[in-house]
Amino acid sequence: MARTSTAFTDVDFDKSGKQVGFVRIPHSPHKDAWGNTAIPIAVIANGKGPTVILQGGNHGDEYEGPIVIGEIIRDLPVEDIQGRIICLPAVNAPAVRAGRRTSPDDGLNLNRTFPGDPIGSITEQISAYVSDIVFPMADAFLDLHSGGSSLDIIPSAIVEPATDARHHARNVAAVRAFNAPMTVVIDNLGDPRTSTATSVRAGLTTVGTEMGGGGTVSREAVKVCRNGVRNVLAHLGVLAEPATRPDAEPGVILKIPGPDGFVFAGSDGIFENFHPLGATVRAGQEAGRIHHLTDPGRPSEVLKFGADGVLYGQRHPALVEPGNCCLVVAAPYEGTLPG
Ligand code: ZN
Repeated sequence: MARTSTAFTDVDFDKSGKQVGFVRIPHSPHKDAWGNTAIPIAVIANGKGPTVILQGGNHGDEYEGPIVIGEIIRDLPVEDIQGRIICLPAVNAPAVRAGRRTSPDDGLNLNRTFPGDPIGSITEQISAYVSDIVFPMADAFLDLHSGGSSLDIIPSAIVEPATDARHHARNVAAVRAFNAPMTVVIDNLGDPRTSTATSVRAGLTTVGTEMGGGGTVSREAVKVCRNGVRNVLAHLGVLAEPATRPDAEPGVILKIPGPDGFVFAGSDGIFENFHPLGATVRAGQEAGRIHHLTDPGRPSEVLKFGADGVLYGQRHPALVEPGNCCLVVAAPYEGTLPG
């Protein structure tokens, strides 16, 4: 059944040249009866070639992707491309304005609402617009994340698994082309509600990223992201030349190995991490401990790793409560770890 939406836009997806505008989703809160939520969008189109979506701001506290997409909107000469780039630099604009992972409008995490609902809440309408209007126009999708306020992650390009082997190989090749310091397969425990899982179901070549985090901007990660986006655009034939070329010997691909890859807090307190990001760790090894500062007679809770691999991410604020993700391990997926 066709899904209808009241969203409208001032860009023409079929027009050549560079256009910068908004997708507007009618919104009627107390302070603005007939207003709209404006989602920034840009279309850069020249000649024949693939259509590539660059999405940032899926989570509102992850900044490298939106910065790089903004640079492309302002600085990339239209004659340098073949095909079309659809830029959504702050797709969850209410969350970006608030500097939050989730939307202040409805409390939802956009990346757990796909394929959305065109007559749902604002966040559900955003994901429905991307799913129903933008995905069908495109050949490839880049969703540029960072760790956000609660995680610090090694800058990496992400493979969203596809069940079809050829589609999976196409995704891996595009992610390899990004040429990040690390390549990781992440399936969010099989969650189908992410934008990349939905893009894969739509048949698009799909590339994700995790670029640092901590709710701040890393200059090094911005550089990795800037080069990586250009590298993938060149891989897809939209740009003539990549920014960097990968080593002749491809690096190991890692994967977050399901629930065992996460170290969760078991008690309230202050988490102390025992290992630096990038360290090789073993299942059963002590990972860190939680201190109970206001109950000094109580022994600290020692947390252990559940999988062999590389320490890939760590919680950013030390304050934890039961269930919080303290550490993330990525295990070998293709190839073996050095050493
Ligand atoms: Zn994110």
